[in-house]
Amino acid sequence: MPQRHGGAAKGDLVTESEVSVRALCALRDELAWHSGMLDVMFVMQGLGSYPLVLGGSEELCGAILPDVVRGKQVAAFAVTEAGAGSSLGEANLRAEQSDGRWRLNGAKTFISNAGLAGFYSVLARTSGEPGDGGRDSLTMFFVPATTKGLEVRRFEVMAPHPIGEVILNDVDIADTYRLGEVGSGLKIALGTLNRFRTSVAAAANGFSRRALDESVKHLEDRNQFGKPLSAFQGLRFDLAEMDARLRASQLLTEEAANALDRGEEAVAEVARAKLTATETASWICDRAVQHHGGLGVKRGVIVERLFREVRALRIYEGTSEVQKLILAKDVLERARKRSD
Ligand SMILES: Cc1cc2nc3c(=O)[nH]c(=O)nc-3n(C[C@H](O)[C@H](O)[C@H](O)COP(=O)(O)OP(=O)(O)OC[C@H]3O[C@@H](n4cnc5c(N)ncnc54)[C@H](O)[C@@H]3O)c2cc1C
Repeated sequence: MPQRHGGAAKGDLVTESEVSVRALCALRDELAWHSGMLDVMFVMQGLGSYPLVLGGSEELCGAILPDVVRGKQVAAFAVTEAGAGSSLGEANLRAEQSDGRWRLNGAKTFISNAGLAGFYSVLARTSGEPGDGGRDSLTMFFVPATTKGLEVRRFEVMAPHPIGEVILNDVDIADTYRLGEVGSGLKIALGTLNRFRTSVAAAANGFSRRALDESVKHLEDRNQFGKPLSAFQGLRFDLAEMDARLRASQLLTEEAANALDRGEEAVAEVARAKLTATETASWICDRAVQHHGGLGVKRGVIVERLFREVRALRIYEGTSEVQKLILAKDVLERARKRSD
C-alpha cells in the first residue's frame, strides 16, 4: 500500500504505488506455515485493493485504502465469471453508462471474501463482445458491498475459504467509482495479478515447509519394526527429495520477487515460480500425508488440512497449465532470438 495511504515504507521499489513482492512473499510464506485461512485473509486485502492503487482517484483511495490497511474494510477481487476463467476476455458482466453513472448487470463466481468484503473490485464489459480478448473493452469498478442490487451466494470449497458468487442486478454506481480509463480494466486486472501471482508461490512454499516439518517430527517420533520410521532409507530418501524440491521452489520464488521489485516484467520467472512451487507443494503435502499413515487422513491432523488447503493454489491466479503456456511462449521466443 502506498505510504501516503497508510502503507509500508517505500524501500527500494521503483514507484511508490508498487507493492513489495519480496515483503508479500515473506509474509505469505510465514502465514501459510501457520494457517491457510490467515494467508487468504492477508492476501485478499492486497489483491482486492490494488486495483484502486492502480486506477482509483486520489479521493477514493484516500477514503478507502487507510481502512484496508487497518483491516476495517475487507477487500475482494472479482474478475472470474462462469464463462470467463483462464480467459478473462470472455467476461460478460455488463456496465452501461447513462447520465454520468454506471449500471452493472451480471455475475461473478469463485470470489474470495464474498459476503465478508466491504467492497469488490469488479471487472466489467463496457463495450465489445465476450471472446474479443478484452484489451480495450473491459473496465474495472469499485463496488461497495452495500450497493442496492448486489447479492452474494456463498458456497464451500474443499478447504476452509470464504468464497461465493456475487450477483449484480441493476447495480447503480457513480462514475467516480470507475478505476482507471474506460477500457483499461484488463490492464488493471492483469497488473494486479502480475504483482500478486508470485506470492502464491510463496504461500505454497509455506505449506511445503510445514508439511516437511510435520513429516520430520512424525518420522522421528513414531516407531515401527522396532525403530523410528526415520531410520528407514525409503523414508529418508523422501525427506531429502522434499527438502531439495522445496529449496528449488524457494529459489525460483526469490528470483521472481527480486526481478519484479527491480521493475522487470519477469514473465517467465513468475510463471516458473508459480508452476513449480504450487505443484511441488501438492506433492510434498501428499508425501507428508503418506508418512503419517492413517493419521494422515484423520480430520484435525495438520497434514490432512495442508493436503486440502494446498490444492487450490494450482488453480487460482492462473492455473498450472496457463503458467506452462506463458513459459512455453517465452522458451520459444528465446530460442528464436538465439537462432536469428
Ligand atoms: C479457492 C479459489 C479462490 C478463487 N478466488 C478468486 C477471486 O478472489 N477472484 C476471482 O476473480 N477469481 C477467483 N478464483 C477463480 C480462479 O482464478 C479460476 O478458477 C481460475 O482462473 C481458472 O478458471 P476456471 O475455474 O474457469 O477454469 P478454466 O479456465 O475453465 O480451466 C479448466 C481447466 O482447463 C485448463 N485450461 C484452460 N485453458 C487452457 C489452455 N488454453 N490450454 C491448456 N489448458 C487450459 C485449465 O488449466 C484448467 O485445468 C478462485 C478460484 C479458487 C479455486
